[in-house]
Amino acid sequence: MYFTLPKEYREATADDMRERIRAAKKRLGKKLLILTHHYQRVEVVEFGDHLGDSYGLSKIAAAQKEAEIIVFCGVHFMAESADILTGAHQMVYLPNPLAGCPMADMAEMADVLAAWEYLGEIVDTKKIMPISYMNTAAGLKAFTGRNGGLICTSSNADAALKWAFQQREKVFFFPDQHLGYNTGKKMGLSPEEMVIWDFSRESGGLTKEQIEKAKVILWKGHCHVHTNFTAEQVREVREKYPDVKVIVHPECPPEVVDLADASGSTAFIVKYCEEAPPGSTIAIGTEINLINRMALTYPDKTIFELSGQTCPVCANMYRTTLHDVAYTLEHYQDIKPIHVPEPTRSEALLALEKMLEII
Ligand code: SF4
Repeated sequence: MYFTLPKEYREATADDMRERIRAAKKRLGKKLLILTHHYQRVEVVEFGDHLGDSYGLSKIAAAQKEAEIIVFCGVHFMAESADILTGAHQMVYLPNPLAGCPMADMAEMADVLAAWEYLGEIVDTKKIMPISYMNTAAGLKAFTGRNGGLICTSSNADAALKWAFQQREKVFFFPDQHLGYNTGKKMGLSPEEMVIWDFSRESGGLTKEQIEKAKVILWKGHCHVHTNFTAEQVREVREKYPDVKVIVHPECPPEVVDLADASGSTAFIVKYCEEAPPGSTIAIGTEINLINRMALTYPDKTIFELSGQTCPVCANMYRTTLHDVAYTLEHYQDIKPIHVPEPTRSEALLALEKMLEII
């Protein structure tokens, strides 16, 4: 896909864009709702009516009945989820249509269906609960809903796994292997009970026995932002700052999560920074825009990025600029909204509603 803003917007100054966004917000009033994810640029977050992680923003979208124009400053799967959760009179717009999620792209519909079919040759799929991480395309959320499963986010992964095991023997978790593994480990599963389905290999690279014995079958997907962090970085930061608290996102590799003082969703990390006593030193393993904002918000605490060398930026989240937002607000009538057609919408809604019910 190719996307470029008209010249008038490309060449406009940030101040000009700010002024035009303010004017559009005033003009559209309650018809408009701007949702901004924590990983968005600071200047975009400034104009959000709500700031949150994918779970928090989904809840807000689901509860929102008034706004007819919802501008979702995040990535594609988030805007799709918002469209599924809102009414037919509400249009959801993604200001930069190129903002996708490479992790979501690691789970292709055809590959997931083939894996499910193969698993079904070994175990009755009625005994397997599909859990799809929020970071998936709507078609996969629909697959999950159709098969009795639910959507999870990093905020409710523990509850999702518990819920799944109350009903079925096994879980098929996709696409983030690390979130699935870290959550399973937290609830007491052994490494042998969690196997990785490698979609690039025949039969997922697993034997029949491995599948039969497994409690959790994890899709071999990952987030390239969170897999930047290493155990070595945790050791180094502890040596340099003996009082440091290391807080990481559960999309990080297990060896990093194991060495951290705490791990949790974006909302958890925000709360941790807020509640830490003044003078605290906190090294965070997650997306850089969130870390920078935490450091700016709490100048009485020393907050910095864990690796100290890489720049863990989510380039897709970073795509959305003030210029994109201004253009969307001024031209929404000419822009194609994000629209999930039936029956995908209704099937995906089943899985999303279950997500909102549990915590
Ligand atoms: S941070 Fe990772 S998981 Fe989140 S949107 Fe970016 S690539 Fe996807």
